[in-house]
Amino acid sequence: MDSQAQGELQRSDDPIVWGDLPQLGQNPARIYRLGIMGGTFDPIHNGHLVAAEAAFDRLDLDVVVFMPAGSPAFKQDKKVTSSEDRYAMTLLATSDNPHFVASRFEVDREGITYTAETLRRLRAIYPDNVEFYFITGADAIAEVVTWRDAATIAELAHLVGATRPGYDLSCAQRAFDDAPYDFDVTYLSIPALAISSSYLRERVGSGQSLRYLTPDSVTGYIHKRHLYGARGARYGQMRGDENAL
Ligand code: NAP
Repeated sequence: MDSQAQGELQRSDDPIVWGDLPQLGQNPARIYRLGIMGGTFDPIHNGHLVAAEAAFDRLDLDVVVFMPAGSPAFKQDKKVTSSEDRYAMTLLATSDNPHFVASRFEVDREGITYTAETLRRLRAIYPDNVEFYFITGADAIAEVVTWRDAATIAELAHLVGATRPGYDLSCAQRAFDDAPYDFDVTYLSIPALAISSSYLRERVGSGQSLRYLTPDSVTGYIHKRHLYGARGARYGQMRGDENAL
């Protein structure tokens, strides 16, 4: 990456407009592509990271912003880990990748975090030569037509649905075919999405290892904060030594 491109990905010093968002769009002669990785990330795992990296490569994105949902729209009746913990795990998981950024953009917003409102706010911040690619799981993308203000989503973003191989796309395709607005949707088949957040939660609850499923820093955080029923065991502790703490 040349020094100008590196500079483009640096965060601005202006805390009011940009906050922790990457600054893009300075060269008006060029189109920039911003990936917005939306998810509850409860917790973030290697499937999410592989999907974001694949989107970065295949869609020629400039940067991918991981945006943990503050108060997820469809999870108001479910127990979700605090947004601060989900953000902290996302920050840890993305910190060693130069084209990933973790953002508090939704976490810091009051009330339910609707995607249309997120995109509207981003559109007000970024210049017109920055295109938005909203990336999330294909199950969620298939529901977009039912989300609040879906017309705004269709207008402001390209959609990227990350699927596991063999996922049946016909349902999602029908929903988009029947929709009153034109959505631009790309699907990416990601084998690593055999991993899911619920699988990780179950494993932690039953005392099983998360090694190779999520970065070690995330595993350490889960144990330190006793998330998902973790007993706070010392990381790397020997089997049969559970009472040593
Ligand atoms: P979800 O229903 O919990 O997830 C559906 C499926 O997609 C799950 O298999 C999930 O796996 C996977 N997934 C979620 N995020 C992913 C990502 N970034 N990359 C790859 N796979 C992903 O969906 P959610 O996490 O609550 O919401 C996803 C996004 O859609 C969020 O940004 C949310 O704010 C937005 N959303 C908006 C509205 C609205 O505006 N009305 C409604 C619903 C969702 P894991 O469990 O392993 O992640």
